[in-house]
Amino acid sequence: MISAGIVTVSYIAATVLFILALGGLSNQETARRGNWYGIAGMTIALLATVFGVVTQHYELLLGALLIGGSIGIVLARRVQMTQMPELVASLHSLVGLAAVAVGFANFMDPSVHHTGIELTIHDIETYLGILIGAVTFSGSVIAFGKLSGRIGGKPLTLPGRHLFNLGLLLAAIWFGREFVIQSAADGGLEPLIIMTIIALVFGIHMVMAIGGADMPVVVSMLNSYSGWAAAATGFMLENDLLIVTGALVGSSGAILSYIMCRAMNRKFLAVIAGGFGTAGGTTVSSDAEQQGEIVPIEAHETAALLLAAKEVMIIPGYGMAVAQAQHTVFEITKALRAKRINVRFGIHPVAGRMPGHMNVLLAEAKVPYDIVFEMDEINDDFPDIDVSVVIGANDIVNPSALEEPNSPIAGMPVLECWKGETTIVLKRSMATGYAGVQNPLFYKENTRMLFGDAKDTLDVVLKAL
Ligand code: NDP
Repeated sequence: MISAGIVTVSYIAATVLFILALGGLSNQETARRGNWYGIAGMTIALLATVFGVVTQHYELLLGALLIGGSIGIVLARRVQMTQMPELVASLHSLVGLAAVAVGFANFMDPSVHHTGIELTIHDIETYLGILIGAVTFSGSVIAFGKLSGRIGGKPLTLPGRHLFNLGLLLAAIWFGREFVIQSAADGGLEPLIIMTIIALVFGIHMVMAIGGADMPVVVSMLNSYSGWAAAATGFMLENDLLIVTGALVGSSGAILSYIMCRAMNRKFLAVIAGGFGTAGGTTVSSDAEQQGEIVPIEAHETAALLLAAKEVMIIPGYGMAVAQAQHTVFEITKALRAKRINVRFGIHPVAGRMPGHMNVLLAEAKVPYDIVFEMDEINDDFPDIDVSVVIGANDIVNPSALEEPNSPIAGMPVLECWKGETTIVLKRSMATGYAGVQNPLFYKENTRMLFGDAKDTLDVVLKAL
């Protein structure tokens, strides 16, 4: 058992390390260091809590640590890069569930005594903690289902769904009032349970209504909710570090949601209202209108085109993650750069299935950061590009987002590769991307389709180079 003073100092140190971690993660060069700060902060926080805050039943704590830790290690070792978004969603759901469990336990704990205004404040903390936790839990479970393809990405647009949501919100407020009143008279469990059910239904309905193309915002939004749920738990348990950490996660998740919304050119409320993008998952649309002829290309012709180019732009998407083609992509990049061809990467903010997905893959393959550019930085350069290579990307290079006002993804900024000399698209079929929208890029005169698994195809291109 360590003294309260040491716990406080450790908590301050952990807080500073968490802030440094977030600062580090905001830049690719410093991301690795940022991770280490985060790991150090969490280790200090855990040690201070285990040896300073917990006073009894160490065997339960040890058991929980062993079970939780072992599951975590097995999951982290087994997870494929393409399953990372689902893993993140399932971890968010656990934060939500923990907030609900702590809320109920805290409410029923006979040793917790508050009176007067303190009781009211504590009741509101408990109520909000359980509410946010339950929304986070059920919303994340649905997000997990959608990201893993277990639930279709098509938005559920019930008639009168906005009224339904409003009804749930008003009911939650009413039961909150009931809870505070009844709790003062030693009751309140009933309204608390009813509100939990309402919040669970709201979480399910909210994420079910969100269309495929808006899922990136949902992923970061649930990240933010999980932070606020943790902060609310911190208030309930009177744990300063949990409050600060929760608020850091909550606000950084909110900022990320804002960045994602801007990247998609969407208003946050419109995202919550749902319905943007249609199918979700890779599907072949049966009612695909004939948009013209496609021109296939072979791997050796691709190599020849690349060798004749001066400026090459590589646009990776979700398919690069599926094919695990990032290492071959970098080998090709090195081969071309050795021939003094300027190769750059253009990264769309929602490429892949989680924020920063492509950056993580390229960093893993050791692609230098200074040739990796964000969409805003390079979108004006396409007229000067000789060859753009689109590797397993689809929605993020779909011109209909700009050209067809009725498109389900209308208004979303995309990488305008068709403005370059030639675009080569690597994919396995004519299937649509996550948003389930046909892509006119494939039918453009200056587009060539290179069919096959991206890794297999690029291996052949590399050999030909
Ligand atoms: P898309 O899902 O639009 O397209 C990916 C393409 O990759 C598919 O058309 C598929 O075509 C192809 N592909 C799949 N596997 C392979 C393979 N092994 N080899 C070659 N090609 C392959 O991905 P984008 O990255 O372009 O766009 C991301 C989409 O995901 C956006 O709609 C975004 O809103 C959404 N999203 C993004 C999130 C984020 O945080 N970044 C989170 C959730 C959703 P084919 O089957 O023919 O091979």
